[in-house]
Amino acid sequence: MINTLIPVQPNCDDFDPTSLSVSQATDRITALVTTTLRTVKVTERLSCRSAFGRVLAEDIIARLSTPPYDNSAMDGYAIDASDIPGSDTTTLKIIGTSWAGKPFLGSVKPGECIRIMTGAKMPQGADTVIMQEHVTKADSSITISSGHCAKQNVRYIGEDISVGSVVLTAGKKIAAAELGIIASMGISEITVHRKLRIAIFSTGDELRGIGEVLEDGQIYDSNRYSLFGLLQREYIEIVDMGVIPDDRTTIENAFEQAASIADVVITSGGVSVGDADYVKETLEKIGSINFWKIAMKPGRPLAFGKINDAIFFGLPGNPVSVIATFTQFALPGVRALAGLTKTNNINYQVRCVTELKKRAGRMDFQRGYLSVDNNGQLSVAVTGLQASHILSSMSYSNCFIILPEDTTHVAIDTMVEVQPFNEWIE
Ligand code: AMP
Ligand code: MG
Repeated sequence: MINTLIPVQPNCDDFDPTSLSVSQATDRITALVTTTLRTVKVTERLSCRSAFGRVLAEDIIARLSTPPYDNSAMDGYAIDASDIPGSDTTTLKIIGTSWAGKPFLGSVKPGECIRIMTGAKMPQGADTVIMQEHVTKADSSITISSGHCAKQNVRYIGEDISVGSVVLTAGKKIAAAELGIIASMGISEITVHRKLRIAIFSTGDELRGIGEVLEDGQIYDSNRYSLFGLLQREYIEIVDMGVIPDDRTTIENAFEQAASIADVVITSGGVSVGDADYVKETLEKIGSINFWKIAMKPGRPLAFGKINDAIFFGLPGNPVSVIATFTQFALPGVRALAGLTKTNNINYQVRCVTELKKRAGRMDFQRGYLSVDNNGQLSVAVTGLQASHILSSMSYSNCFIILPEDTTHVAIDTMVEVQPFNEWIE
C-alpha cells in the first residue's frame, strides 16, 4: 500500500453553486424512486432454496413455535426442581430415557428422573435438567448435590419464535439465517419481488472491448466490468448492452431500447460538457432530468432522471468516479426499487494516520485502507494517488474516507469518517 500526501492540483472548479450536496442528491433519488416503486410491484413464488439472495415480498407468519416444545439444552437427567437438595445430596431413580426425536412418554414423579439428550422433549413432571457431568451415576440411579437452580438447562417452547408472530418482514433479503428460519417453519415456497432488470452500457468513441485490437488513442472499456461486479446480486438481472459510440442518434436509440426493457438504466461517460458528451442532452430530450451536478469528488457530473418508467443514472466516465457514484447514489436507489427495506450505511469515525488535503466546496470520497495495529486499534491511511482515473488506488483500498465539503486539511491522528466497502453488500 502506498501512503502519499496527495498534492492538491491547482484548479478552481471545486465550488459550483448549481451543484447539489451529496445528501440533497440522495434525497432527490429517494423521492423519485419512491414514486416509481409502484411499477416494480410484481412478485413471484419461489421454493425455499431458490429464494436465496432475493427480497421477501410478504411477511412470514410463524406457523409453529420455535422451539416447538420444552426440551433439554444438555445431555443429562431431567428432574423435578423440588428434588434439588438444599444441602447434602439426594439420590433419584432413573425410570427411562428421552431421546431427541423419541420422547419419553411417561411422567416423572418426585424421587425419579429420566436420562435426557440435548434437544429431547422434557417429560411431564420434570422442569429441570442436571448435566451428566454433575451427577454420580449408579446402575439405575443418580446422586446429585445441592447448588443446582430450578428450571436450569431447559429451552422453552416459543422462546425463539412464537406461533402467529411475524418472523420475517417484507423487504428483508433472504440470507443464510432467513433460509434456516423459513425451513424451521416447514415452509416450502415464499413470495419474493421479481428480479430488478438493470441495463448497463458504456459510452465513448475511444472504448474497445476485450479481444479487440487497440488503435492509437483507444482504451479498453473497464467501467462495464466494474459495474458488472458491483451489480452481482441475486435480486438483479443485468442486461449488458455493450459500448455505444459518441453519436447523438445511436445514444438516443440505445436509451430508448434500454428504457423499454429495463427498470433501471446505468451508463458511464459522456455526461460532462465536452463536445462529444451527449448523455445529458439525450436524457433531457427523451426523458426528464432531475439533476446532474453534485458537490462530490470524485464524480461531479451525474445525470439522474427518468426515461418513461425507467430510472436513469448517467454516471461519469472516469473509472473511480463510476464506483464512487454508483455506491453512493445508484445502489441505494437500486436497493429501494428491488423492494429492500432501507438500512443506513454504518459509517464510523477512526484515526487517520496520513495527512490529507483537499479544496473546499465538494465532499471528498478518498480511497482509504482500514487496518488494526498491534495494540488492536483501528486506523485508516489514504491509498496512493486520488485522481479519478487511478483505479489501482481503488483496488488497494477497503473503505472510503469521507471528508465534508468545508474541510481543507486533515492533520495526522485526527478522527475521520470512513465507509467500509463491505457496506455495499446487504
Ligand atoms: P467522459 O466523461 O466520457 O469524458 O470520460 C471521462 C474519462 O473517463 C475519459 O478519460 C474516458 O476515456 C474515461 N472513460 C470513459 N468511459 C470509460 C470506460 N467505460 N472505461 C474506461 N475509461 C472510460
Ligand atoms: Mg466520453
